[in-house]
Amino acid sequence: MARVYNFSAGPAVLPEEVLREAAAEMLDYNGTGMSVMEMSHRSKPYQRIIDEAEADLRELMNIPANYKVLFLQGGASQQFAAIPMNLMKNKVADYIITGQWAKKAYEEAKKYGTANAIASSADQTFSYIPDCSDLPISENADYVYICENNTIYGTKFKQLPNTKGKVLVSDVSSCFLSEPVDVTKYGILYGGVQKNIGPAGVVIVIIREDLISDDVLPCTPTMLKYKIHADNGSLYNTPPAYGIYICGKVFKWLKKQGGLEAMKAYNEKKAAILYDFLDRSKLFKGTVRKEDRSLMNVPFVTGREELDAEFIKAATEAGFVNLKGHRTVGGMRASIYNAMPIEGVKKLVAFMEEFEKQHS
Ligand SMILES: *Cc1c(COP(=O)(O)O)cnc(C)c1O
Repeated sequence: MARVYNFSAGPAVLPEEVLREAAAEMLDYNGTGMSVMEMSHRSKPYQRIIDEAEADLRELMNIPANYKVLFLQGGASQQFAAIPMNLMKNKVADYIITGQWAKKAYEEAKKYGTANAIASSADQTFSYIPDCSDLPISENADYVYICENNTIYGTKFKQLPNTKGKVLVSDVSSCFLSEPVDVTKYGILYGGVQKNIGPAGVVIVIIREDLISDDVLPCTPTMLKYKIHADNGSLYNTPPAYGIYICGKVFKWLKKQGGLEAMKAYNEKKAAILYDFLDRSKLFKGTVRKEDRSLMNVPFVTGREELDAEFIKAATEAGFVNLKGHRTVGGMRASIYNAMPIEGVKKLVAFMEEFEKQHS
């Protein structure tokens, strides 16, 4: 068996320890004589799995009691519609456009009301985060929306926008559990888990209770109502049961690593190795304004397309895979999520140094 260093943006690397544990429990989960995949979601053992997952997530993120944790399906993309459907009472929302995912959410919201793009970094290919300290927030905005870590462009909000008292909604898909957050600053934070937590098929929504009600847009499908899922403990219908089980294991793994403070320190150390190299390299260069750099997704280029392609090919052969940048931006991108070991980043940098020597 040969494991590679997987720099995929998502679905992405998971802790090897978690995969081994899941493998060991594949045929017989905890004496039940069956796999978690074969288990009723209404059974006692499954109830314990989802309850523990929620409790561990609450502990990791220090989630206050007046927030609900929902384990849903449909990916982050389905939330682009669920959020306006549930939150647009005045039918107005403000969006900060820092990349493709924010733009998609904004375009979707326009179907349900007035969505205003109040700031954007499109003018410089989303290579920075705009100043959000004094934006023209709409007086009757139901919420202000951000994509906190921009997976494709490699930028991250280091400071949350000043929403002037409006509810903040944040897509944290690619920075979920990468560092501590203050949940009380958000109305909703949500993310697909396939970037930094678990297998594709689960989206986690953390939502303040007062935002959950029956007062939703009339067209809202039952399955997109937060209240339905909140009232039923994420078990209104069959949840993505196996995916939630793996997420639960990752939460326990994170607790064992020392929690989110420890993850932050580890992630900063890992990212610094790569960014320091990019800053001193004469061949490779990062594409993001320094102060807005993501700890999770690191895009870089050589400046020559053929050389980028040659590098990606050589890297793949050497066991560093999925380094190709997003199809819309080209170049390279190394996603270095929680489960990427520091050795992976060190070895990648050593490989890049060697490649640079051979190409100068
Ligand atoms: C990947 C990603 C999405 C889309 O997630 P799906 O689960 O595929 O819908 C949305 N937002 C961000 C920030 C992402 O990285």
